[in-house]
Amino acid sequence: MKPSTPLARKLAAEIRRDGPISLSSMLVRALHDPEHGFYTRAQPFGAEGHFVTAPEVSQMFGELLGVWAVTCWDQLGRPESFDLIELGPGRGTLMTDLLRAARIEPAFSRAARVVLVEASARLQAEQAARLEGLTTPVFRGSLAACNQGRPFVLIGNEFLDCLGVRQFVRDTEGWRELRLGLGADGELVIGLEAGPALPAEDIGSPEAGALAGLPPGTLIETSPATAMLIAELCARLQQVSGYALFIDYGSAGEGRTGSSLQAVQRHAKVDVLATLGEADLTHHVDFAAICAQCTQTEGIKSLGPVSQERFLRALGIDQRLAALVHKTPSAAQMLQRQYARLVAPDEMGTLFKAIALQSAGLPEPAGFP
Ligand code: SAH
Repeated sequence: MKPSTPLARKLAAEIRRDGPISLSSMLVRALHDPEHGFYTRAQPFGAEGHFVTAPEVSQMFGELLGVWAVTCWDQLGRPESFDLIELGPGRGTLMTDLLRAARIEPAFSRAARVVLVEASARLQAEQAARLEGLTTPVFRGSLAACNQGRPFVLIGNEFLDCLGVRQFVRDTEGWRELRLGLGADGELVIGLEAGPALPAEDIGSPEAGALAGLPPGTLIETSPATAMLIAELCARLQQVSGYALFIDYGSAGEGRTGSSLQAVQRHAKVDVLATLGEADLTHHVDFAAICAQCTQTEGIKSLGPVSQERFLRALGIDQRLAALVHKTPSAAQMLQRQYARLVAPDEMGTLFKAIALQSAGLPEPAGFP
């Protein structure tokens, strides 16, 4: 593939100079390169953009997460001040709907300090404008940069899928990493790293033990960036009381193999290397790996994954739909369509899943029947 986008040409020049890069670096640059990154430049969201996320489908999604957040705050003992943290807030739609719904509990709204973790300066400005009149958020570039020592409720919808993954292929000796390099004609190619193969323990999978029996040719993904984020979050949950919720697409089962990297441009899957910086580039979240990591961390409890359908139903989406239809009968068809989009098994209901992490000693959060 001849480098065909400005970012592809920039990466090709860097690789010519410094050698191949990991797929994790490729993904981070595709999304966040300061000049040519997808989130740096594009308008990703909504029908006129590249993809539609659950909060953009319907206000019901953010409202139900508002109910979830209020019950968590209640279970934290109704602290007078706490951090309501959102990772990757997109257009700010989810937080707007969440805060509106949470007005039923004025003490929650008074106590919440809204902290938005967002890499893109352009999206930060959009989020601040969207939330004007509701709250003045604090912006941070990463979870590690957020204040410590305050009780918190954290949410992240379609955030983990943006974190980098590395890929390894098994051969008879061990595991070799796939990297982005250059072919004979200067074209970008993904190829196996030369040099000695790595043992399973060295490739950063929390399920290293299970890798031993996999046959040569098997491809697996690991996400060191996800593991670092979860480690950071667990350390916070050990230190202060908190709840965290992640909703994303991915598999629940252990021992997943094969590449899940995918590029989406204008609502269609496209070739990864042909669209670097001009398409959304994501991976399927490995929920089993996250839960395994939590199990190995003392004082942390993880719940789920449960399907988005079960999660939203447990939070009362059926009742919310009925109330909205009752209020505006003329919008009934549109609301029904939005509802189906969120919960139908052949739409977002099954592929999308929710997991929660919590400090030890707290009651379980809502939504995980
Ligand atoms: N939660 C929103 C947007 C999802 S898209 C929704 O559901 O509509 C992913 C969001 O995460 C974007 O706002 C993107 O800029 C942000 N993001 C992606 N990777 C990030 C990172 N490493 N650090 C901070 N923000 C990131």
